Amino acid sequence: MSNSILVVGGGFSGLTAAIEAAELGYDVYIIEKTPFLGGRVAQLNKYFPKLCPPSCGLEIQFQRIRKNPRIKFFTQAELVSVSGTKGKYTAKVHVQPRHTVPHSVDLGLLASTLEGAAPNEFEFGLANRKALYRSMPFAFPGRYVLDPSALSTKDKIKLANAGGCLLDEEAKELSLDVGAIVIATGWKPYDVTRLANLGAGAIKNCVSNMQLERLASPFGPTQGIVKRPSDGRAPRSVAFVQCAGSRDQNHLNFCSYICCMASLKQALYLSEQDPDIQITIFYIDLRTPGRYMNVLEKVKAAPNVRFVKGKVAEIAENSAGNVVLVAEDAVSGEKLTLTYDMAVLATGMQPTLAGEKLPLPVAVDEDGFVVSGEEAGIFTAGCARMPLDVMRSAQSGTSAAMKAVQTVKGR
Ligand code: SF4
Repeated sequence: MSNSILVVGGGFSGLTAAIEAAELGYDVYIIEKTPFLGGRVAQLNKYFPKLCPPSCGLEIQFQRIRKNPRIKFFTQAELVSVSGTKGKYTAKVHVQPRHTVPHSVDLGLLASTLEGAAPNEFEFGLANRKALYRSMPFAFPGRYVLDPSALSTKDKIKLANAGGCLLDEEAKELSLDVGAIVIATGWKPYDVTRLANLGAGAIKNCVSNMQLERLASPFGPTQGIVKRPSDGRAPRSVAFVQCAGSRDQNHLNFCSYICCMASLKQALYLSEQDPDIQITIFYIDLRTPGRYMNVLEKVKAAPNVRFVKGKVAEIAENSAGNVVLVAEDAVSGEKLTLTYDMAVLATGMQPTLAGEKLPLPVAVDEDGFVVSGEEAGIFTAGCARMPLDVMRSAQSGTSAAMKAVQTVKGR
């Protein structure tokens, strides 16, 4: 029997679950697939309800983790198998090498001198990253990660003489005994390249809502000034296309919950940058749960924002790199063909587990959301269970932690 808890996923809900359980006196292991904690929230420019930057919530969480010896976390770590039953599980975890020395001198200068680069996953392909990198200035852990596959021959020679890096470090296997498990594997943006009629992936100035978050972030590829990917010019007109991939039986057959709010928020980003920018939001329904109604009212009152109830059927590109939208206004019945500098697809939220197999005795529904496990001492937090915003993800992390604690209590 073990009274330790395993949390699979180091995003906002997973961190919340881990911290809550550890602060109640239980040992917690977090395993996170990427090199840094923070999940999707770390990639946002601002988040609801207060529209604060991700640092304001995440740095507090990171501080609580740093101070709590009951929490152990492993990044670049994936669950390989789980054996046993409720109260006495053994989890096998595969940990990729980080290839850098713990507590070594700051590797930032060395990183900047390397020539090798690779597409930056954190920036959704909008920029490249160095072979030696951190995802952002307040990345946690702060230790750099080295991607040997991105090194040039010159880089390898440089690293061999520099110190601080461990090119021959090997992967490790861990065995963790735990009594309960929290699944907090989060979500991924729906693959926009599957929306061929909307030009995603093919038209440079047609970006996803998560790409727009990176363009608006002061730590993103354009240092927070939203610019067109094609020519670096600030857009003067932008169209938002709601339900891009959601509420569609050929793609995501559910409402992704957050993307109406995301577009309203992003309309505010753009209007702050340029009060004269012309914005059109094409929508089927506008969903602003609970107290977020005031955000909709604020955006509706803005003279530069127009709302069109109607589904966008097609997006094409003209010779100037502008996007040409074809939509039907559902109120007037008019067919609209309109040209914008940029389009933003309000891309849906798909559970990370969609199309993946988690080595746990839980069931997922046809969309990839976890629908069982509690009887086995396995609890689900955040968007692994349903589409949620950050605040509700954190609440579900607390709830999962309480259930996990009740499972392992007294063991
Ligand atoms: Fe569509 Fe809005 Fe639901 Fe997103 S939140 S799927 S944009 S209705």
